[in-house]
This record gives sequence, C-alpha cells and structure tokens, in this order.
Amino acid sequence: MSKTALEQWRHKAGAWVQRGLDQRLRLAVTGLSRSGKTAFITSLVNQLEHAGLDARLPHWPVAAEGRLLGIKRVPSRHHHVPAFGYEAALGQLSARPPVWPEPTRGISEITLAIKYRPGNRLKRRLQDSATLYLEIVDYPGEWLLDLPLLAMSYADWSGQQRALLQTPALAALAAPWLQAGASLAADSPVDDARLAALAAAYTQWLLDIKRECGAYLVQPGRFILPGEYRGAPMLQFVPWVWGEVPAGLNDSHHHGMMEARFEHYKKHLVQGFYRDFFAGFDRQIVLVDCLTPLNQGPGSFADLGRALEAILQSFEYGKSGWWQRLFAPRIDKLLFAATKADHLTPEQHGRLTRLLTSLVRGGHRHARLSGIDIHTLALASIKATHSGRARHQGEEIPALQGRRLGDVEPVTLYPGEVPEALPGADFWQRQGFDFTEFAPPLWQPEAPLPHLRLDQALAFLLGDKLS
Ligand code: GDP
Repeated sequence: MSKTALEQWRHKAGAWVQRGLDQRLRLAVTGLSRSGKTAFITSLVNQLEHAGLDARLPHWPVAAEGRLLGIKRVPSRHHHVPAFGYEAALGQLSARPPVWPEPTRGISEITLAIKYRPGNRLKRRLQDSATLYLEIVDYPGEWLLDLPLLAMSYADWSGQQRALLQTPALAALAAPWLQAGASLAADSPVDDARLAALAAAYTQWLLDIKRECGAYLVQPGRFILPGEYRGAPMLQFVPWVWGEVPAGLNDSHHHGMMEARFEHYKKHLVQGFYRDFFAGFDRQIVLVDCLTPLNQGPGSFADLGRALEAILQSFEYGKSGWWQRLFAPRIDKLLFAATKADHLTPEQHGRLTRLLTSLVRGGHRHARLSGIDIHTLALASIKATHSGRARHQGEEIPALQGRRLGDVEPVTLYPGEVPEALPGADFWQRQGFDFTEFAPPLWQPEAPLPHLRLDQALAFLLGDKLS
C-alpha cells in the first residue's frame, strides 16, 4: 500500500471507530405539573455547561476523574419539536429579584454534545476522545396518565368518571358541567358550540379539583395541558354520566359524536405520543414533588399515589404483549427523583427518598420484571436555602434559611419531619410539616446554579455511556 493510501485508510478507520464510539442518548424528563421539570432541565444543562470547570459534581465519575473535554449545546435534529427555553429560564433566574422560570406546558427538547475521554482502557486505545449527544426531552407527566384510556371504551371511561363523582369533595365542584350536560339530549343533533362549552366546563372542573382538592389523577391529561391542540374538536368531549343512552346513535348525535372524539383522542393523541416520542426514549427520569401533597392532606397524598401507579403502567411493557408490539419501547433506566429536597433539613433527605420508594414500590416490581434498572433519590435542582442550626426553646435544632416567595428578608425555620413510609392516620393527626415556597436563590449568572445531588442523577442516567 502506498503511503497516501495508507494515510487515507488510517483516516477512514479513525472516522469509523469514532462513529462507533460516538453515541446518541434520548433522556426524557417528566413529572406532574409543578413537580419541577423546568427547574431540573435548566439546572442540568447549566451544570453540564460548567462541568469540568466550576460545577460541583463530585459523584459523577466522568467529571470527578477529569475526563470531560467540553460540553456545548448543539441544534436539535428533531425540527418539529419546540426548543426547550433554556436562555429564557436563565434570564428569569438571574433577574433582580430572581423569578422561577415558566413551567412546562408541552413537549420540548434541547441537545448537548458531551466530549469526553473514555475511562475504559480498550476504548481509549481505539480513540482518545468520544462524543455523547444527549437529547433531553421535556414533557408533561399528565400525558402518561392517559395510557390506561387505551384499554377503555367510552362507556368504560364514563363509568369510571361517574364513580369519581361519588367523592363529595369532587362532586361539589362539578355542578357547572353536570348542569350543562343534563340539558343536552344524547340523541339530539350535534351542536358544536354546546359541546365546546360543556368540554370547557369539564376542563375547568379538572383544574378546580387539582387546585382545591390537590387531585393528581386527572384525565384526559391533554385537557389540562393540551400543548398545540388547544381548541381542537378532539378535546371537546366529556364522560356521559346522565343515564341510559338510546340504542342506534351515530356521530350526528351528541352522544355518538363524543364517543367518536374519545376514540380519536386515544388514537391520535395517546397512541401518537407513545409511537412518535415515548418509543424513542432511552432513559427516563420521573420527578415527584412529595412535599406539596403532604401539606395538602391525606386525600391529595393518596391521589398522588394513584397517579404514580397510572404513570408506572407506561413502564410495565414487559408484561403486556400488545403494548410491546404496538410501540416497542426501549427505556432501560428509570430514575424516580423526589424534588425540592432543599425544603428539608439534610437529615430528612433519606426519609424523603424512602417515602418516594414506598410510593413507587408496586411499580418497581413490574418494571424490574421487564429488565429496567430503577433507582430513587432526593434532589434539589436549584437550591434555594442554606441549612444550619438554630436555637429553639433552649435546644439546638437543624434549621433552614431562605427567602419566602415574595419576601425580601430571609427567614430561618424548621419545616418539620417527613414520614419515611406511606403516612398513616397518626401522621395526619399530628401533621407537623410546614411547606413554604421559597424564592429562587440570588445567583450570579457566571457561576453554576446551586443544587443537591444532580451529580448522582447524572451518574445513574449517563454513567455507563461515558465509561
Ligand atoms: P414543572 O411544571 O414541572 O415544569 O415545574 P417547575 O420546574 O416550573 O417548578 C414548579 C415550581 O416548583 C417552581 O416555580 C418553584 O417554585 C418550585 N421548584 C422547582 N424546583 C425547585 C427546587 O429545586 N427548589 C425549590 N426550592 N423549589 C423548586
């Protein structure tokens, strides 16, 4: 072989090895509204941009071993997915006074190229650097609540919603849509404007029970967070809860039209999401705010448990042939993270992790069966407090210092104890947990955002890919 041919061959072989070492990983971030998705992705990207420089990531081996060579944002290859608003979020956090970024409303994506030196000797011999393209996808957890709908008919779903109305607190808020629907004959010709108004009243009920009763399991999920489908007719149906329906109706009648829209919703939005997005995810983190429902009371906490059960069904695909056939999902690592751990004094963090573990334990069992590696931890994406000690009635106790949302002066407080297992009646009787919303920290944009355990999340989710 001539010298130039040899050079060319070497170059080609090098490029080939490089392609072999370079990888793409689609990391999906979800959680119910206000669980902390926007804060998490903002801080994660920010830590990655500061990784290897001034970010504190001691538990992320590739950073701790000094193998990171550079991380930068690159354009996303999915041109139809909106970009995650990273710059806007940083702008809000660095305002004076700082404000929390706008929460997630639909799907969005941000891609990072992580250039690193392989730690594995064999890989290092082949190539002294490699790149992991990390695609981070943000989407509302409410969309996963819809999976169980796929196995339901309109009549099944209507029956389930009717059963929900047996709970007095939920029924008390349902009067507007129940009254609007009561005057609508199942067999009269479709009046689109009335269906739209009825669906709007039903959606308002879902929002009200979320706000007033701390409900989490609200379906259909897109009614709350419609993304780009706001106002689409397929979001304009409600469960039929007004008694017997005459036989032989079709979609020229109210009942038949709502049934057709329910089926369309399932096919287009629910299946569409699993087929076009979920099936392409490699890794998933589910963020859970356990603290707000602890404050709201037993009904809200129990509903969070039910919502997590529904969410977990999305990861039980090993069990079900149709599910596997339909979407061929491939998530192999699943992290449950209890967010906002900076609301607790450090000795409570272990309890928070154990509480989340008991919430998802049922799901753990199934998901493990399908070969998914699962982990739970407690983290704070953006740490808004400092922990220390304070004197209370002559005793020294652990305490937190931070600024309450809307306040200028910091306060020192002890928020109370978190139960380390599903709370029983005695916990609710002596409920000593006081959850205060904190303002974001005063942060200098040149510095990395303060956090708790994001490096542990990175180690679990990406560790093997950067070995
Ligand atoms: P999303 O709806 O899941 O996108 O939720 P966000 O990320 O917008 O978070 C909702 C709210 O939770 C924020 O506005 C903050 O008030 C609070 N929050 C989120 N993450 C943290 C955190 O790490 N620490 C603290 N103290 N509050 C947080």
